[in-house]
Amino acid sequence: MYRNFRIVPNIIFGRGSFNQLDDVLKDRRVGADSYMVFVVDDVFTGKGLEGRIPLRGKDLLLWVNVDDEPKTKYIDELVARIRAYSPVTPAGIIGIGGGSAMDIAKAVSLMLNNPGSSADYQGWDLIQNPAVYHVAVPTLSGTGAEISRTCILTGPEKKLGINSDYTLFDQILLDPELLAGVPKNQWFYTGMDCFIHDVESLHGTFINEFSKAYGEKSRDLCRQVFIEDSPEKDDKLMMASYFGGMSIAYSQVGACHALSYGLSFVLGIHHGIGCCIAFDQLEDIYPEGVREFRQMMEKHDIPLPRNLTKDLDSASLEKMVTTALGLVPLWENCLGPDWANIMTRDRAMELYRRM
Ligand code: NAD
Ligand code: ZN
Repeated sequence: MYRNFRIVPNIIFGRGSFNQLDDVLKDRRVGADSYMVFVVDDVFTGKGLEGRIPLRGKDLLLWVNVDDEPKTKYIDELVARIRAYSPVTPAGIIGIGGGSAMDIAKAVSLMLNNPGSSADYQGWDLIQNPAVYHVAVPTLSGTGAEISRTCILTGPEKKLGINSDYTLFDQILLDPELLAGVPKNQWFYTGMDCFIHDVESLHGTFINEFSKAYGEKSRDLCRQVFIEDSPEKDDKLMMASYFGGMSIAYSQVGACHALSYGLSFVLGIHHGIGCCIAFDQLEDIYPEGVREFRQMMEKHDIPLPRNLTKDLDSASLEKMVTTALGLVPLWENCLGPDWANIMTRDRAMELYRRM
């Protein structure tokens, strides 16, 4: 069976295109009670971007905090706040920020039309009703969250996305000007998330010409951004993120992402930096990718935290290993059907001990 997957139907790309957001939303504003909810990363409080948000009428500006990556409990609270604000379902949700704010916007738009807690829907195709119309405006590039069919949430029991065709954005607006102001280390870590998506997709056993076409272009753009220091680097990274997301949509990520989930679940380490920490230990599996990654890290003088697992008890280490090895499709993609004999618990444990 071949997958029949949806993609984002409407895309705007270009410097200054944020100014067109008001126009894009216009057609969706029908009726006197209609309103939009802008889900915005609170890093922009008091910044220039705040004044440019096209708020009209009864629109709600919902600042969201992403110091911790999105949790199901937080999503449920935000949905309750929107319901308390108005008995009318909003006409649209507009997520403005990095992967975290975009994932929050996706989850909120799904949960406004589906009963219960967001934790009930962590998994594959559990969502019954279409989401509220939702739009992404990335301000940080690399995760591919703008194009993916998932929104990753940490729940009481697991860190797992709400994967569904309804999760996909209806519209994305890619304005490279919005990347200005991202702190350098964050820019690098999230950018490497994209580079690692490419390497894991291209290096995997699930690879096909569709994923290769996007993955090779994305990796090439990452090289222009992080090695060649292209003057158009913000534009290029924005497209690299999109293409990286498209590449894994029809293949899969691999060992690095699997291991990073363990770091995140047990130590709360954020996605981009967690991927960098894990990738640095994977030269046996991805020799060329890791070599380039180190070259990029050196060029930009990026620090990587070390000895994170030094003081961990064995129960926590075991939990990390269990989390990572539970992601079966990632290992199958990386190492093939015989993966469990290659990436044994002992080998995974040894990798974590080195991080
Ligand atoms: P992020 O959204 O967590 O943001 C990281 C930091 O950068 C935050 O402090 C944020 O406030 C700040 N920031 C964002 N834009 C800024 C700007 N323009 N200027 C200054 N500061 C800015 O980081 P991320 O790496 O983009 O996203 C990570 C999240 O994405 C994780 O929760 C991860 O699980 C998720 N993710 C989702 C997918 C998906 O397909 N849905 C894929 C990969 C990762
Ligand atoms: Zn990733």
